[in-house]
Amino acid sequence: MPFRNATEGIPYNSKPWDNPRTPHDPYTMPGSEHTRPEMSSEEIRAVFDEARRWGKKTACHVMGRTAIANVLEAGVDVLDHGVYLDEALAERMARAGTYFCPTLSAYDRQTMNPKFQRGEDWARAHSVLVEAHEKSFEVAVRAGVKIVNGTDTTGSYAEELELMRAGGMSAMDTVLACTLNAAEALGMADCIGSIRAGMLADIVLLDANPLDDPYAIEQVYLVIKEGTPHFPGALAVFERPNGV
Ligand SMILES: [Zn+2]
Repeated sequence: MPFRNATEGIPYNSKPWDNPRTPHDPYTMPGSEHTRPEMSSEEIRAVFDEARRWGKKTACHVMGRTAIANVLEAGVDVLDHGVYLDEALAERMARAGTYFCPTLSAYDRQTMNPKFQRGEDWARAHSVLVEAHEKSFEVAVRAGVKIVNGTDTTGSYAEELELMRAGGMSAMDTVLACTLNAAEALGMADCIGSIRAGMLADIVLLDANPLDDPYAIEQVYLVIKEGTPHFPGALAVFERPNGV
C-alpha cells in the first residue's frame, strides 16, 4: 500500500511555520477542533504492525478526537499532545494503559514565545489550541491516565511540571511522570525509573524539593549514572542551536 506523504508540496528548505499547509497546524482547519487526521486508520495500523514485528513501542503526536480515536484503536503505546481529548477517550486510555505525554508548555507558552520568530499569524492560529489543551489534560488526570513528562522540544521539563500541577496533578504524581511512568512508557521500568536493588543506579540529587517547587528539578546537585557520580560543574555544557 503506498503511503501518502503528509508534507507533499511543502519545500523542505522553508521553516514549517512559514507554510500554512504544514500538517499539525490549525491555520486552515475547518470545524470546532481546528485539526484533521493526517493518516488513515489503515496507514496507522500498517505502521504499528511493522513496529510490533520489530518489538518496538509506538508513540504518536496527535490532536483532535478523530485522530486520537484512530491511534487508540490501533493500540498506540504513548500519545503526545492529545489536544481535544474528551472523557470517553481519556477513560479508554486509562483502561488500555496508554501513556499520555501532554507537552503542555508547547502550546501554553512556547508556541507564542517570540524567540522562535514564528510571527503573529502563527501565534494567533495556535492560541486556539491552548484552552482546549488544558481542558484535555484535566480530563486525562481525572480519568486516571498515566502521565509522562515531555516537552516536544520547545519548553522545559520544569515548566511542564508547573503546568501539570496547575491542571490538577499532585506534586508526587508529577515526579512519577518524570521517573517511574516515563520508564514504564519506554518499557525500561526493570532497570530505570525507581530506586531499588538491581536497578542501573541512575539517580539525580537535587538542591531543592520538587514536591515544593517544580523548578527544583533544574537545581541539580549530583547525577549518578550507573553508579558513577558526576557533578554538573565538571561536565561540558552544550548550547542548543535554537538557544532554548
Ligand atoms: Zn508534536
